[in-house]
Amino acid sequence: MKNLCRFFWFVSVAIGCVTALGSDDSPATPANSPPRPRLAVLVYFDQMRGDYLTRWQELFADGGFRRLQQEGAWFQNCHYPYGYTVTGAGHASVATGCSPAKHGIVGNDWFERSSGSSVNCVIGAGYLSILTAGNDESDPSKGVSPERLLQPTLADAIKKATDGKSRVVSLSFKDRSAVLPGGRTPDACYWLHPASGQFVTSSYYRNQPHPWVVAYNDEHPADQWQGQEWSRLHPDWDYARYSEADDTIGEGTGTYQGRTFPHPLDGGPEKLKRTYYNALYNSPFGNDLLLGLVKRAIDGEQLGTHDTPDLLCVSFSCNDAVGHCWGPDSQEVLDVTLRSDAIVKELLAYLDKSVGRGRYVFALTADHGICPLPEVTRKQGKEAARISSAVLGADAETFLNEKFGKSDRRWIEAKSGYWVYLNQKLIREKELNPENVEQALSEWLVQQAGIQTVYTRTQLLGSDFAHDSLGHAVFQSFRPDRCGDLFVVVKPYHIVHGSTGTTHGTPHPYDTHVPLLVCGPGIQAGTRTDAVTPQAAATILATALGIAPPAGAEAPVPEGLFEAQ
Ligand SMILES: [Zn+2]
Repeated sequence: MKNLCRFFWFVSVAIGCVTALGSDDSPATPANSPPRPRLAVLVYFDQMRGDYLTRWQELFADGGFRRLQQEGAWFQNCHYPYGYTVTGAGHASVATGCSPAKHGIVGNDWFERSSGSSVNCVIGAGYLSILTAGNDESDPSKGVSPERLLQPTLADAIKKATDGKSRVVSLSFKDRSAVLPGGRTPDACYWLHPASGQFVTSSYYRNQPHPWVVAYNDEHPADQWQGQEWSRLHPDWDYARYSEADDTIGEGTGTYQGRTFPHPLDGGPEKLKRTYYNALYNSPFGNDLLLGLVKRAIDGEQLGTHDTPDLLCVSFSCNDAVGHCWGPDSQEVLDVTLRSDAIVKELLAYLDKSVGRGRYVFALTADHGICPLPEVTRKQGKEAARISSAVLGADAETFLNEKFGKSDRRWIEAKSGYWVYLNQKLIREKELNPENVEQALSEWLVQQAGIQTVYTRTQLLGSDFAHDSLGHAVFQSFRPDRCGDLFVVVKPYHIVHGSTGTTHGTPHPYDTHVPLLVCGPGIQAGTRTDAVTPQAAATILATALGIAPPAGAEAPVPEGLFEAQ
């Protein structure tokens, strides 16, 4: 009897401990509703544009994207609400549930006026890279931390709700894509070190890599594709039916990889490891490399098997490199998307086996879209062009010298993406009103080829954008202490970019449109066309786990997403 009493005491204490988190046995969960998930999985595919999943839907296999589309909610009308659509901003926005104006990650880099230099969103001073073997003093990626992120992420919210007990793992090929979703105190945060091919963390987090990372690095998994070729996943399919011809004008050649299949992966004549790792990044196989680490993490951290719910964030980066090089209509992007479908299938199957079907909640999105190659758009009869940043910058200097008096210093102190930073010291020395200089440059810029409009700092600080959706989007990317004095909006299908390849970073739909798929216990399946933002993922996953969303989250749970309880 005594033992039985002890047993009931143990059970009631155990239930008490997890009640606040809505465990399987939680009294807060009605008897007829599904159990709370034990793990939330947040997956990003870098640069996966929202239309790819409909455009190539018939080509996907069962068990990957199609499984999420059938078993979960598929939001087809999902757009970022802000103007400067780049990787750092996208990852931070989904993780925090708010926009760059609030979370502070306005770009991948920005110009810091106090130091007079460009800063990276996750790289700064004070921290070391923690490699499995061979620390390198000249390491370009040292100093990584999430300290420039000004809002808590979903990871932080889960840690807070569980008194730090939840396990949080965040992994990617790119440093910023692991660091920003991981928040302040992830248990494991790793990315690929570009010089060594090892997965690495920062001394911000810990001083030793986890044993499961050491074991994976010791197998040198990144080297397995060296000297191989990237060929089409389905050599018997007619890729040209679903994309442009393989050899299309405007395509890049990557790292000695050429314009057409098969693409060699040997690093070119330099044969340097670093050059090979660049080629690996510019191929689908970097995603396979990361999936290997994800499986080790699920096992090593026993994700989804604890009393408190865990979080796994994964960002697959290679889609971005491939898209920049060959463009969204290329056979290469089609192929990397088909291979991403296989990655999703394998990841879901692994989670089914390790955590259990119905015991995890899964969200899939992207950090931004991509503009088509201007050469491809022009063939469709639409206006499109490449704009040279160097030429535009030089012409702007000439104009400002003529307008405000010649100077031997530059009027434009820095450019960061579509932000232009004026030389405030020069403006003060010449006793000019900064607003007048902004306005003059803005009026000159909109007369230049390919420029649609410009927003100045004065406008962004003082205007109400209730009737200007473009202005409102730029406003949501604007932080006075980190952004420039003018934001340039190029015309649709125009890019400020080199002579090949393409880019993103505008408020136009091809850059803002991303997939959002959510699947898990209690989530109402179906295809949805209501307008949502990918930032809703933070609130959706928190709600699925029964915890409060991150403090700054603004995007609500889309109506009717959770089955009525
Ligand atoms: Zn990119």
